[in-house]
Amino acid sequence: MSKLPDELAGLLAGARHVGVITGAGISSESGIPTYRGIGGLYDDPEHGNDIIDALSGDTLKKDPDRTWRAVGELARHATGAQPNEGHRALVEIEQHVEQFVLLTQNVDGLHQLAGSRNVIPVHGSIRATACMDCGLRGTLADDELRAIESAPRCSHCEGTLRPAAVLFGEMLSAEVVQRMYEEFSLYPPDVLLVVGTSALFPYIMSPVLEARRAGRLTVEVNPERTYLSSEVRYHLAGKAGYYLPLLSSAIRA
Ligand code: NAD
Ligand code: ZN
Repeated sequence: MSKLPDELAGLLAGARHVGVITGAGISSESGIPTYRGIGGLYDDPEHGNDIIDALSGDTLKKDPDRTWRAVGELARHATGAQPNEGHRALVEIEQHVEQFVLLTQNVDGLHQLAGSRNVIPVHGSIRATACMDCGLRGTLADDELRAIESAPRCSHCEGTLRPAAVLFGEMLSAEVVQRMYEEFSLYPPDVLLVVGTSALFPYIMSPVLEARRAGRLTVEVNPERTYLSSEVRYHLAGKAGYYLPLLSSAIRA
């Protein structure tokens, strides 16, 4: 690993409007495994596909207990975790610049716990539930989540609860799509950072490709190469906990 390229540091100094997109990689230094990539919980591709299958909309319909067992497994890693240097650097950036938006695919709540304010949690929260019968919304406490072995029941109608998160194969909510459009297309940030995501979803790639086409500054932080690595202006091959504090210092210089 190395310091930031001088040219990049120069371009970041005085940035006024910063957008950030994060994925599971930023939470890996808080001890929460990613699905894919280095440090992935499921390096073994068969188990990786297994969990992705369990966390899909199709499985939820056929076998909600299986979906909830996978949620429980993720929760045993995600609950109790604390924000790390990477999360904290993004809070610093938000406090410094005029306009800031953070789109995260993570469901662990660590950005919010660190103190980030303008967060779009595109995939929802691991703690939120919705009744599949009456629609009642609620939350589960961390100890309940960790202990979960089967689909919990609705306190109102005894129906089956689902995680109020976007599962694989499901669509984003219209409200989230609208917010993303406003924050990334209508009033696009002049600096876009994309951190710790394998960037496989079209709605994650497209703000980055759009920014690049418009000639705005794009920076990726990921120890591995992704589909976006050859698209962004700078690919910083290292950990979020290392590079985000450097990016924050350069922006605040
Ligand atoms: P992913 O697991 O597909 O990819 C993680 C990426 O992070 C990889 O490219 C990896 O190289 C990179 N990475 C690993 N350690 C890193 C570090 N220290 N710094 C920077 N990058 C690092 O994750 P994804 O793209 O977010 O997609 C997975 C889906 O699974 C998302 O929808 C997300 O909701 C969900 N998920 C969430 C959590 C969480 O909330 N913490 C954890 C696992 C999965
Ligand atoms: Zn109900």
